[in-house]
Amino acid sequence: MRIFDPHIHMTSRTTDDYRSMHAAGVRALVEPAFWLGQPRTGPVSFTDYFDALLGWEPYRAAQYGISHHCTIGLNPKEANDPRCAPVLDLLGRYLVKDGVVGVGETGFDTGTAAEEHAFARQLELAVEHGLPALVHTPHRDKAGGTRRSLGVVRDSGIDPAFVVLDHLNEATVGEVADSGCWMGFSIYPDTKMTPGRMVEILRAYGTERVLVNSAADWGHSDPLLTRTTGEAMLAAGFDEDDVDRVLWRNPVAFYGQSGRLGTECADETRAAGLFAGNSVARGES
Ligand SMILES: [Zn+2]
Repeated sequence: MRIFDPHIHMTSRTTDDYRSMHAAGVRALVEPAFWLGQPRTGPVSFTDYFDALLGWEPYRAAQYGISHHCTIGLNPKEANDPRCAPVLDLLGRYLVKDGVVGVGETGFDTGTAAEEHAFARQLELAVEHGLPALVHTPHRDKAGGTRRSLGVVRDSGIDPAFVVLDHLNEATVGEVADSGCWMGFSIYPDTKMTPGRMVEILRAYGTERVLVNSAADWGHSDPLLTRTTGEAMLAAGFDEDDVDRVLWRNPVAFYGQSGRLGTECADETRAAGLFAGNSVARGES
């Protein structure tokens, strides 16, 4: 089973995690820029962090045979701090870099005007740079927050195929499915989605435009729950091709829109000859 985890915060994980992820089949990942727990007090601590996502963390991942990519953004929580908001003006210089495959995490936390401004501006940046956008949906009032997020996405004019709304659940998946945006699900040990509930959503909505991630960070989380979800799919009667679509080809297709995924991602997909509809797979390139 080959796995591309499209949302995991390796900054907060150990080398043992890299080793066990590789053993479980993880060969590539996207690490979105996010809130680090301790509030930051100014733009320079963001840029030091962005530099680590582009330098140190890919180096660490490579030692364990995992291809590392990142998204860069101002997270919704810190968008509310006037000391941090100026980082919006620095994002452009990062969005041109090779390891950056998207903008984010952006979206709403509590739903303030400052969050909406930062969210709309980052969708603009995604359009300007031709990059996918990762939209975090809030943990409180998820249904209302998701609906409002879809409104901001619509107003921005970004192609919905370039947007993933993440941390969805049974209450929010329907509206996002109808919007044309991608549907992201974070599988957690005891909150949000579980592997069993994820399988039921895949039964109801199919495997298209679905991204499954562990979203593992410094909270209670498990970087191997992507693998557990693949096994739960097989046990429920999905075949290996379905699992490969959800855990590999879908994230490659979504973040591949950046044109910046490591060649090993494209090469593995091409070698498997599984990327139906892709001109590379048909030998037309
Ligand atoms: Zn996250």
